[in-house]
Amino acid sequence: MQTYPAVTLKPGKERSIHLKHPWIFSGAIQSVEENIREGDLSEVYSSTGKYLGTGHYHEGSIKVRLITFNRCNIDESFWYQAIQDALTVRKKTGLVDCPNTNVYRLIHGEGDNLPGLIADIYSDCAVIQTHSMGMLRSAEEIGAGLREVYGNRLHSIYLKGADTVSDHDSVLNPERFLLGNKTETEVTENNITFYVNFPEGQKTGFFIDQRENRKLLGFFAKGKKVLNTFSYSGGFSMYALQGGASEVHSVDSSARAENWCMKNAVLNHFNDRHGFFRSDAFDYLKKVNETYDIVVLDPPAFAKHLSAVKNALTGYRNLNTEGIKKVRKGGLVFTFSCSQAIDKELFRKVVFQAAAQTNRKVRILYQLSQGPDHPVNIFHPEGEYLKGLVLMAD
Ligand code: SAH
Repeated sequence: MQTYPAVTLKPGKERSIHLKHPWIFSGAIQSVEENIREGDLSEVYSSTGKYLGTGHYHEGSIKVRLITFNRCNIDESFWYQAIQDALTVRKKTGLVDCPNTNVYRLIHGEGDNLPGLIADIYSDCAVIQTHSMGMLRSAEEIGAGLREVYGNRLHSIYLKGADTVSDHDSVLNPERFLLGNKTETEVTENNITFYVNFPEGQKTGFFIDQRENRKLLGFFAKGKKVLNTFSYSGGFSMYALQGGASEVHSVDSSARAENWCMKNAVLNHFNDRHGFFRSDAFDYLKKVNETYDIVVLDPPAFAKHLSAVKNALTGYRNLNTEGIKKVRKGGLVFTFSCSQAIDKELFRKVVFQAAAQTNRKVRILYQLSQGPDHPVNIFHPEGEYLKGLVLMAD
């Protein structure tokens, strides 16, 4: 059995690990073996010398992110098994070899007991996004595991770590191919075609987490005039159009989003009912005189850290107030927050405050979250980052 440098906890600090929470904060640590480096594998012990788990060591407030609670070698067979396990879960949700969808998240960090690792499948391409030096340093083995599990069904694996890991020792190239050379592809989600660009796109290229929520919007869209703010490549817009919307307006401030959104409308032959407006969404909502049957508000995370929560709440409040004002009587608002630092109670409260400012009667019809390929580890509730409400405004 391989051994890794030891991290020893202070007395009594093993409780959260017994509850299977994978993070070890700096305040819990008594001592760290000498010469341990950023991203090294390390073994965590209680103050009495009991083995608790193995994980990646990092400088910062979270010192160790555990990838196993059972002593084992972290080698190619570990990664192969972890990928196999994740795939088994996706198969159970019907997303693998599905006739109308070939895009899904295969590995969702803590939700798959692999903190710091994201892997998304786009038809015959995989995109790995590493959020820690430890995962970046394991990229070759993870790539090998993916090649073994998927065999010739996978033609390309792109590693996307430049935005999410700072590569201080600059030995590792965080942005490279682990197989093939495809930077872009077209995928099918619920029979809708989407163009996806891995290096230039946001996240791994597409917001896979909204699939179920977009589907719900499609269900309500027939004959409706829809406004999709923060549209990115038009996820919600295309579902509305497929669902029979009479007209859809997409709004995003990014030139790439405009390009891809227009492209997706053409790919699906929806362009005659679709218009794109490159604009700040707040400005658009303030200035536009039109009203809509359905308004989608899906902004980027306003609060990336706890310190940003107060300003973020003001942002969500203003956005939701303007969004509710733009919806016709009896219309719907699909409103979201993907800020991990704002939980669903707080989000609901801020939407309540926004509704109160509009003087409209507002009902919650649905409470939404991320899709089942973005599972939440019950011992790591922080993983439930996407919150959504479908409101009906009288
Ligand atoms: N709903 C989308 C994902 C939205 S991601 C989907 O289902 O695919 C958030 C988007 O907001 C990004 O495309 C980003 O370019 C855009 N954005 C960020 N700030 C903005 C602003 N102030 N006004 C308009 N768009 C903005």
